[in-house]
Amino acid sequence: MSAPLAKTTPTFVGMPKFPAMAKDALANTQQRRNLLHATHTIRAKRASVVEEVPQWEALRLNGADVKDEVLANLDSYLLQFEEKLTERGATVHWARDAEEANRIVLDLVRAEGVDEVVKVKSMATQEIELNEALEAAGIHAWETDLAELIIQLGHDRPSHILVPAIHRGRAEIRQIFRQEMGKVGRPAPEDMTDAPRELAEAARLHLREKFLRAKVAISGANFAIADTGTLVVLESEGNGRMCLTLPETLISVVGIEKVLPTWEDLGTFMQLLPRSSTGERMNPYTTMWTGPAEGDGPQNVHVVLIDNGRTRVLADEVGRQTLRCIRCSACLNVCPVYERVGGHAYGSVYPGPIGAVLTPQLRGTSSAIDQSLPYASSLCGACFEVCPVRIDIPRLLVKLRTQVVDEHRGHNSVESRTMQAAAWMFADSRRLAKAQKASTLGGKLLGRRTALGALPWPASSWSSARDVPVPPKETFRQWWDRTGGGQA
Ligand code: SF4
Repeated sequence: MSAPLAKTTPTFVGMPKFPAMAKDALANTQQRRNLLHATHTIRAKRASVVEEVPQWEALRLNGADVKDEVLANLDSYLLQFEEKLTERGATVHWARDAEEANRIVLDLVRAEGVDEVVKVKSMATQEIELNEALEAAGIHAWETDLAELIIQLGHDRPSHILVPAIHRGRAEIRQIFRQEMGKVGRPAPEDMTDAPRELAEAARLHLREKFLRAKVAISGANFAIADTGTLVVLESEGNGRMCLTLPETLISVVGIEKVLPTWEDLGTFMQLLPRSSTGERMNPYTTMWTGPAEGDGPQNVHVVLIDNGRTRVLADEVGRQTLRCIRCSACLNVCPVYERVGGHAYGSVYPGPIGAVLTPQLRGTSSAIDQSLPYASSLCGACFEVCPVRIDIPRLLVKLRTQVVDEHRGHNSVESRTMQAAAWMFADSRRLAKAQKASTLGGKLLGRRTALGALPWPASSWSSARDVPVPPKETFRQWWDRTGGGQA
């Protein structure tokens, strides 16, 4: 077994394997209903807006090419980005891992003498568990995205990249707001129903107080443009615009793979991302900033560029395509596995198909959950079909499965002994014929049954997740002899 590649943040350490988590999730029928409805709705919206674009495939190819160009020359694009941003008065910090990134952000927040910050939804800060690090230092980080607010108030974990509270229904959200909002700010109205408009209004009023008094905001970024030093955030609710413009200090935590070479390249991604993520032609709010602007918006602008395992992914010629990901979540919405089990089973902030390939590459395959992730797929290929930057997720899953198998090669497990026995049998046609003939006896004894029930240990772990067919009553060779190859 390999050693952990990165210092893993504490939340997901020791989680059981994906199958165990998935089994629990499957038993939650309300969650399955919520997921089915939500994923199918977004999926249909995406399909209809993508169909409107005749050059969609060309856009995907261009998106993949731009990202590959960035990955091939990441060092120089990052330095160019730093230079441009510094010229415009911003400060760029570099962080090797989650610990270093959290320390940098914490020092910056402390320097402002505040005990609270407002946050724009950001996968990078979730990945490094920044909120937990700030909380441990006595600094409250208020999430301002509606779905993230639901997760934070509900003491829950996100289960979708774009719609983190996708597993929650309206009645549950109402209950969370009623119970929790008053503990950390303006309470939800007592007569609030679960109508979306009333829930959104309660969140709006609750958050407004926080926006107006915040001195520091923390964001991520969807894109970082190297030739201008511009950061770009796309969002739907306007909360991001409030965070990015009202406070005096803005700290953005950005994965090093978010760089695009030029301003023109942004045009491709502004077409690919909204259509793939929310199924909209254009997202309602796009905020761009290039350092501080005098008298307008935050005057102290910091950018923390994080590696946290990305350069290791970059070093793998096949695996590096994972870093093209623009976190649109289209692959989650079409995945038959995600649709049934939801996001918590993936043991990471990155659920679904992209999580199944990104997490084991970032964290390594030393833990039970990380070894099981590459198997959390039927390899149907739907994720590749919708991915706006053409990441070949099925190929990566197979590669990671090979890696997991190789790491266990030589272990004296039941599976490896079974495989050795199978190899011995398949190596000789006479042995195989005898084994097939013997299995037909089982088929005859079981009469009309088509499937075996649960098998005893050690085969039970295999049969618990699939139907084991009853062996045929005659082998192919026997059938051939009896029918003359189907002529009789
Ligand atoms: S892998 Fe592709 S489809 Fe999935 S989130 Fe990333 S960009 Fe979107």
